[in-house]
This record gives sequence, C-alpha cells and structure tokens, in this order.
Amino acid sequence: MDYLPIFIQLHGSPTVVVGGGSVALRKVDLLLKAGARVTVIAPKLHGELRALAGRGQLDYIAREFQTHHLDGTSLVIAATDSREVNAAVSAAAKARRLPINVVDDPELSTFIFPAIIDRSPVVVAVGSSGNSPVLARRVRQQIEALLPARLGALARFVGDRRNEVKRTLAPEQRRPFWERIIGGIVGSRVLAGDESDASAKFQSELAISNAPIDSSAGADEGRMGEVYIIGAGPGDPDLLTLRAVQLLQQADVVLYDRLVSDAVLERARRDAERVFVGKETGGDHHATQARIHELLVHYAKRGLRVARLKGGDPFIFGRGGEEIEALNAHGVPYVVVPGITAALGAAASAGIPLTHRRLAQSVTFAAGHALDDDTLDWRSLGLPHHTVVFYMGVAQMPRIVERLLGAGASPDHPAALIERGSLADQRVIRGTLATIVERARKYDVQPPALLIIGEVASLAKGLGDADDELLAALKASEVSTSEPV
Ligand code: SAH
Repeated sequence: MDYLPIFIQLHGSPTVVVGGGSVALRKVDLLLKAGARVTVIAPKLHGELRALAGRGQLDYIAREFQTHHLDGTSLVIAATDSREVNAAVSAAAKARRLPINVVDDPELSTFIFPAIIDRSPVVVAVGSSGNSPVLARRVRQQIEALLPARLGALARFVGDRRNEVKRTLAPEQRRPFWERIIGGIVGSRVLAGDESDASAKFQSELAISNAPIDSSAGADEGRMGEVYIIGAGPGDPDLLTLRAVQLLQQADVVLYDRLVSDAVLERARRDAERVFVGKETGGDHHATQARIHELLVHYAKRGLRVARLKGGDPFIFGRGGEEIEALNAHGVPYVVVPGITAALGAAASAGIPLTHRRLAQSVTFAAGHALDDDTLDWRSLGLPHHTVVFYMGVAQMPRIVERLLGAGASPDHPAALIERGSLADQRVIRGTLATIVERARKYDVQPPALLIIGEVASLAKGLGDADDELLAALKASEVSTSEPV
C-alpha cells in the first residue's frame, strides 16, 4: 500500500492554498466543505475565489509564495501552473513536516486527493496511489451506482440512536443488533424515506433485543419482513433502475415471472433463494396469482426481505395493484420500484418515438388479450396522430386489426410488431393494418411481443416490405446454388 487512507478533521484548522486559478478553486471548495480555514496565496485571483475572499470565506494574500506563509498552518496545497513554485512550496512544507499536496504531481506530494462520493456523513474515497485519477473516478462511478441516495440519512439515523443502544444493550449484543437494523427492515425504511415508520420499527427491535432470554424465544417469528415489488424492465439488465439493483442485492428471496430474463436474475444476491412463480400459458391464472399472494405474505411473515420481480413496470399490466392489496390486508410493508415498461423499452430499441411533434400527440397502452368486452374505444384508437401499443396481443392480432378497420381506421395505417424488444434477439416487423397480420404469420412472431399502431410505427427500424422481397430472393438463390451469400 503506497498511501494510507485516512479521514482528517479540519474544522477550523488553518490551511494554505498556493495558486489562484480554477484548479486552486476546486481544492479550496473541498477544504471549505470540510470546514477548514483557508488562506490563498497568489499574485492574481480567479473570479470565484475573489468572490469568496470578498465574502470573507477565505483569507487572501496577494503575493508570490514565501516560506513564512506556512507559519502556523496545518496543511498545504500547491496548485500553481509553475512547477518551480510548486516545488518550492513542497520543499518548504516538507521541511516543516506539513502534509503537502501538489495537484497532479505525486512526486512532490506527501498526500493525494481521492475521488470522493459524498453522502455525508458517509464518505467514500477511492484512490489509485496517483497512477490514474481517471481510473479512480471510474471506480467511484461504479461504486456510486450501488449506494442508495439516502445513505447519509441512514448514517444519521443510526448516529442519533447510538447512545440509546449503548445504554440499553450489553456490548456483545450491539454489533449483531446494528447488523440487523442496518441490513434489515429498519434500514430499508429509512432508505425508502419513511423515517417515522423506521423509528417505530427500531423501537420494537430494540425492545425485542433487550427482552430476557426466555421471552425472546421465537422472536424471529414475530419479526415482520418486507416486500419489494420491483419492475425488472423489458429484459436488458442495463435497463434496471439503481434502486432495483440495490434492493435485489439485499433481498433474501426473489420471486420472479417468466418475463424476467436470466441476465436480470443474475443481479440478485448470490445466496438469495430464487422462486419461479410464472403463469404458464393455459394454466389457471387466478390460482397462480392467489398462490403468489400467499407466498409473498408467507415469506415476509418469516421476517425475510422478499423481492417480487416483474417484467417491465409492476403497475402496467403487471397485477402489482392486486399484490399490494394482498400485502396491505396482511399488514406487510412494501416498496414499489418502477421499471421500464415493455412499450418504452421496445420503442426505444426499435427506433419508434411513441409521440412525435408531427405524427402523434397521444399514446395509449392497451391490453390486447381480452377483447370480448367493449371497454376499448376502437374508433379513437385508430385515429390519425394517435399511437396505440397493444400488450399481450399476438394471439388476438387478427381481431385487433379487424376491430380497428371496422371502426374506421385506414388499411394504410402503419403498424409494427416488436418481438422480444430490447433483448439481443429482438425482431421488428413493419407493415400496415392491411399487411401486418399476414407478415406476423410469415415471420412466425411469438410472445412476448408488442403491436404498435400509428404513424410513428412507420419510423421503425426493421423488416419492411422491401426486405420481404430480398428475403425471398435470398431463399431462391440458396436453393439454386446452395452457396452462402
Ligand atoms: N408489466 C409488463 C407487462 C406485462 S404483460 C410491462 O410493463 O412491460 C406481458 C406483455 O408485455 C407481453 O405479452 C408483451 O406484449 C409485453 N412484453 C413484455 N416484455 C416484452 C418484450 N421484451 N418485448 C416485447 N413485448 C414485451
């Protein structure tokens, strides 16, 4: 290890920054954030530094650097554009055994600045021992994506209660207690922004932990878990939200559907239990859904953190609404994490803007599988300048097209089918109301697929009529020459 990472408390400590440009400004900002007193030494001052000096937030000495400027200081930064001056500052600081950082010059420095993630009071510092600040920043970005935005709030929540726990629990009980609090329901309530619920749960956890041994038998059963209803997006794991990934990393059990891709499941904790709860086509959907409710409640009541992963968004044709009713009925706390619904994911990867200044001013997401009732307004769905996206519509496509045409839509109205949208083997098939059914048959389109109807569908990148001819020609040439083309 070339450098020892430490965190220095600088509240009120005198520090010196030599240099008055934008590089110096960045360091001054950091020092001020840490509560240090800053003296800037430079013949000329950057505009913002001058403003800080004007407001009395730093002291300014309008001179070339001289060694006596370091008298009484506790830390030195050199940020001039002259290596000679920087070297002189470095030598003077080293002679006085003061920590010195020369920006971008590890040789002249005795300490270096890490890349920082500031979720105060939690601060993460990443360094490359001066080898590659760019690499350190990339590592920081990757770590940052894993850290919940409210991490600081969680640290404060814990900090505020440390003394109470010290008074209440024996030393050997404290660490396991905090592990349970931070990694468990209380922690995730704070991270979800619900501190009053977290507070109540904290108090009951503390009471349970403090109960005499005999009465705490079975306490685990009494502890309520929670459920994360997570939208898994259309399949590409890069389209998961940060919160989805964070909660997947902490769930003990993962319940998932057929639409959730393996690549998404990979993002769950290695040792989490994975339970498939998909509805098989032709199975009894009602019974399957009731079973899912039972399982969610069952696991949560055992004190587990349960991730319920659903394709796309939980509240778009996802029965998320029914699941939260069931959880409410049993008093199980839950968090809903939105996901990218199939229409948005598929439209993006097929190059179809669902609305468009010239081509579509509104969009409807419709269910295409239950067409017997007359809940859909077919006339308005087929109007020009409107986009409609049918989910679950592959089997019923002939009926959908027939109803649109019957309600007055033009046979030339553009349509596109997107099969396995956003996945590596996505297929996009373009056509019109007059041709799309036949084309879907020709390409043997299988669920999951979306049917997008409206002028915007003509913008899809995909197989159009001309491609059909090409395909036919290719096939013909394969037959006659059996040579790869
Ligand atoms: N809650 C999900 C939808 C579930 S309904 C969401 O928000 O996306 C299931 C239907 O979604 C499928 O029949 C299909 O029409 C559509 N679908 C889901 N994933 C898809 C994908 N990757 N490509 C195309 N359609 C998809």
